[in-house]
Amino acid sequence: MYDKYQPVIGLEVHVELKTKSKIFCTCPVAFGCEPNTNVCPVCGGLPGSLPVLNKEVVNMAIKLGLAVNCQIAEYTDFYRKNYFYPDLPSNYQITQGDDPICAKGYLEVDTDGVKTKVGITRIHMEEDAGKLVHSGDTISTSQYAMADFNRTGTPLLEIVSEPDIRSAAEARAYLEQLKAIVEYLDISDCKMEEGSLRCDANISVMPKGSDVYGTRVEVKNLNSFKAVQKAIEYEIYRQMCALEDGTPLTQETRTWDDGKGVTLSMRSKESAQDYRYFPDPNLPPVYVSREWVDGIKASLPELPKERKARLIELGLPEYDAKIITSSKAMADYFDACYDKFNEAKAISNWMMGDLSAALNNAGQDFKNSPVTPDMLVELLKFIADDTISGKIAKTVFEEAFQTGKAPGDIVKEKGLVQIKDTGAIGEMVDQVIAANPQSVADFKAGKKQAIGFLVGQVMKLSQGKANPGMVNKLLQEKLSE
Ligand code: ADP
Ligand code: MG
Ligand code: ZN
Repeated sequence: MYDKYQPVIGLEVHVELKTKSKIFCTCPVAFGCEPNTNVCPVCGGLPGSLPVLNKEVVNMAIKLGLAVNCQIAEYTDFYRKNYFYPDLPSNYQITQGDDPICAKGYLEVDTDGVKTKVGITRIHMEEDAGKLVHSGDTISTSQYAMADFNRTGTPLLEIVSEPDIRSAAEARAYLEQLKAIVEYLDISDCKMEEGSLRCDANISVMPKGSDVYGTRVEVKNLNSFKAVQKAIEYEIYRQMCALEDGTPLTQETRTWDDGKGVTLSMRSKESAQDYRYFPDPNLPPVYVSREWVDGIKASLPELPKERKARLIELGLPEYDAKIITSSKAMADYFDACYDKFNEAKAISNWMMGDLSAALNNAGQDFKNSPVTPDMLVELLKFIADDTISGKIAKTVFEEAFQTGKAPGDIVKEKGLVQIKDTGAIGEMVDQVIAANPQSVADFKAGKKQAIGFLVGQVMKLSQGKANPGMVNKLLQEKLSE
């Protein structure tokens, strides 16, 4: 079945901007406050109140537009999207119409090494709605709901992609790479669990070779990257089965049930006419001068693509550079280490190996890693100058991660400094030779691999502290005497 059909996917992504105040009033943008404490007549939708556009929202929109190769509009304006829902005090959402702030961009996406270009139709500014908190476990069994308008009027950017995505994995890669760019620009917290990054997926399938897209379904309630990928995979499968059975597909909005791993029908798709869009008479249009855009262009920070190229210049393989630059926190951690220790590959090995694993286990990330860049560098320097072996370093790392102690203190306290004294190692080698006559005989009879066992015994005797190179050399010498 999979070889008969071609999936077609387009994503609509919302990011909540971390401006100080809301998009059209001076209420603070904050997460987790007492309900309804950050509300004023404007975001509360009281008649007679007038919205005033927050310039910082436009700045951030232009930043993102430039980062994803968009054209920045010279003229842009605001529209009202009218609908009734208890989380929307004014009964309309202020959004943009046919002249969004950014359009016609693209993102270069790398899906497991396969590179594609996904078109970005538009990026527009809009306000967020409030939040309904439902009683009970599920929305359908809920007795009542309470409205919290703190979020109302939080600035959002909506990034709409072209239907250029062809697989669930590519959709996930697109979203991850878009998120990285937003993080690098430092314009949003990008937390999918907290809703500051949200994604709706539009999915259809068509017979392979066709150039007519199938009927699309929009899937909502995707709260993690994994959910995005799984929901799309499920929906592709469901639609292919329907086509195979001859069941007609309808254009509808579905919701992802993460527990059951299925999408469920919510409503048939509303058309644009249902929203009675019209220009907001309270907001003047915005004319964006080229000087304004050029000023922002000149101040853009280093983005993932450039950062990756720089790390490759420093000597990292492309694979390492890609992983390290995929999150800003990780890339910043790398730079902080490299500032003090110019061994790019040694740093990336530890970051991608032991450190990533430990952070994962502890449910933490690079931003607040218990092993700071300074501590990792201290450890790497001990390895580089042979103060400790790579194996001991792993133990020191574990302890540093658990306790937050400096690697130097751990090495001192536990007496872990590597033994490089020929006399001391020689004694241990003699002991091991005496205790293992069979292996010694094997070695002398030509079984060269027997030496591995003997090296291991000496290392064990030294509690991992002997310099392995010296152990090997001394053993060779003594065995061929
Ligand atoms: P709406 O505003 O009603 O959601 P849009 O025209 O803005 O509609 O499209 C929304 C998204 O749907 C875009 O990301 C677009 O790429 C995607 N899309 C449009 N047609 C299809 C299709 N046939 N299959 C999959 N995705 C589609
Ligand atoms: Mg839509
Ligand atoms: Zn307000």
